[in-house]
Amino acid sequence: MNITYKIKRSRKRIKTISLQISDKSESVTIAAPYFTPVDEINRFVWEKQHWIKKTLHKHKEEASKEKAPEYESGEMFYYLGQSYPLKVFFDPLETAGVFFWNNCFYLNTQENKKLKKHYFISWYTKRAREYLGGRVDFFSKALKLHSGNVKVTSAEKRWGSCSAYNNLSFSFRLIMTPPDIIDYVIVHELMHIIEKNHSPKFWYRVNDVIPEYKTQRRWLRDNHHKFIL
Ligand SMILES: [Zn+2]
Repeated sequence: MNITYKIKRSRKRIKTISLQISDKSESVTIAAPYFTPVDEINRFVWEKQHWIKKTLHKHKEEASKEKAPEYESGEMFYYLGQSYPLKVFFDPLETAGVFFWNNCFYLNTQENKKLKKHYFISWYTKRAREYLGGRVDFFSKALKLHSGNVKVTSAEKRWGSCSAYNNLSFSFRLIMTPPDIIDYVIVHELMHIIEKNHSPKFWYRVNDVIPEYKTQRRWLRDNHHKFIL
């Protein structure tokens, strides 16, 4: 593989050649002392090629994860924290929509991206209603915290919320994340029934139920971009 790179020759007193790949980009920059021969720079890049290739590959992967899916066969979709491949087909005699079977997503649909997205959202929403409903019941009973209605929404910015009347809303996207993340979000919203803020007292109560809650918070911050539809 050919590696293309930019050379930045410096008149400043740098003594060694160094290498930079900016975050999430695919451009390689070599900083070198002003009079470094090209041969030497090429050799330097050659020696570092494995690392460069690995890093470029990683950046490419990360970039592709942030893109909304095309809903084509071979793409991966999340469900309860695991990702599974999609197979798209069209059989007008069968029910249209998403099916999950044997660790694989199947989508029976006409070729229409909007429609495909709609089928996925409705599948996720259904699963979220069942699964989150069960977990909310479980924690409500265990913590003796009783909410109003529980709704599954298509909120993009928030995983969950608790209204002034203690109605809980959860984004259908939550069903794509691992069970421990779902439990954390549910406990978080249930705790808002008694604490309508994020005061130390609030976190103290969350901590009482989920002592490792900081791990889940960090995970949500670092991974939210993976769940774009
Ligand atoms: Zn909150």
